[in-house]
Amino acid sequence: MLSPYIKLNDNCGLCSKLRSANSDKDFLFDGGHNLYIFKSPFAEKWPGALMPIFKRHIYEQSDIRPSDLPDTLHTLVCLEKALRKVTNCKRMNLVKFANISHHLHWHLIPRYHNENYSNKCSWELENISREKIYSKIEDSFFENASLYEQIKNQSLFEIKNRGSPYFGCALFLRPIDKEIRNKFFTLSLDEIIQLARKNPEQWECLLMKRNYHDFAWDFIGGNCEINEYPEFGMIREVKEEVGWNITKYKEVTRQWKMGAIKGIVYLAIPENENYLEDDPERVHCAEVETVKYFNLIEIINSSNFVDSVKGRIKAFIENKADFDSIDQ
Ligand SMILES: [Zn+2]
Repeated sequence: MLSPYIKLNDNCGLCSKLRSANSDKDFLFDGGHNLYIFKSPFAEKWPGALMPIFKRHIYEQSDIRPSDLPDTLHTLVCLEKALRKVTNCKRMNLVKFANISHHLHWHLIPRYHNENYSNKCSWELENISREKIYSKIEDSFFENASLYEQIKNQSLFEIKNRGSPYFGCALFLRPIDKEIRNKFFTLSLDEIIQLARKNPEQWECLLMKRNYHDFAWDFIGGNCEINEYPEFGMIREVKEEVGWNITKYKEVTRQWKMGAIKGIVYLAIPENENYLEDDPERVHCAEVETVKYFNLIEIINSSNFVDSVKGRIKAFIENKADFDSIDQ
């Protein structure tokens, strides 16, 4: 869906195409967070050609926000996979011109085995008729009414079944000092963060043990679903794993892996004060065996915790991104 918060440009042809997609004969399907998929004008000569249009009015690829980059590239790759499966093409031209419309979009053009000018770029063949482009061409090649239906179904299948590169997890903090604990819910997120960073030995963190894998203690949270932002993945996972509704949250550190963001850690505050107790209430979830509070400094110094947990706690305390974690 096109978010009502997306700012479109009144003087842009592709923005108006996005706005009236539902009545556009070339609109095919919604590609998720960042792309609407249309039939490309190249389809006249290369059946199956797609035109993904970015859902915001930006000009170049380098204008894509870093947080939207993985989803955008992932979706383009899913479209390519679908086209290869459905059309059985020889190779793919993926091009971005924006010569006429200054709004980011691409053309995915399947190039076929029976082409006569297969070493030429598709845009160089603009003045060559489609009959000349192909040898031994059958009418059904251009008249396949179900082609785009198949491409749509296969693309949606690829998008739905792709892996998510992100996780979102929650850091639940509890002060050891009973007096501070009594006024915990009157503190702002920034005050909690500040107090815990200043005196980490006075603060505890809730960790969980899953009843599979190696039973290692870990943060509550997990992998995001397709097209889900890490904060929403965190809120959903916390609800599934301990049953808590998050009332407030704030990003406190990021985990990096091989130069890319792997996950984001949020300080999360649930609505229920019971979570500050020694045996906090939680839903009975088949996946989570137990939850428990541990002192922040003890976590860092103990060999009982995996590197990812230590790395995230350390990164939180030191107010930096977690570059050191090596866990899978
Ligand atoms: Zn536009």
